[in-house]
Amino acid sequence: MRRREIPDAVTPAAATGCAVEGCDNEPQRSQPRSRVKEALPDLDLAAGRRVKLCRDHYREYRRASRETRRLDRMGG
Ligand SMILES: [Zn+2]
Repeated sequence: MRRREIPDAVTPAAATGCAVEGCDNEPQRSQPRSRVKEALPDLDLAAGRRVKLCRDHYREYRRASRETRRLDRMGG
């Protein structure tokens, strides 16, 4: 019998939860890794082109990215 590949929907236990290192909260939103890294450079993120964020980290990311954008517009 051949082993079948694990479908995308069923992720291994280690890969569930928020992509932020040390955070086990349930992921809510998937975001491009580069964007999150840009907004929150201090966080350790899981590998991958897109990262899943829990509600708290997503909110943090939104706030941080908005501030970054505003700074950009001001030319800072
Ligand atoms: Zn989190």
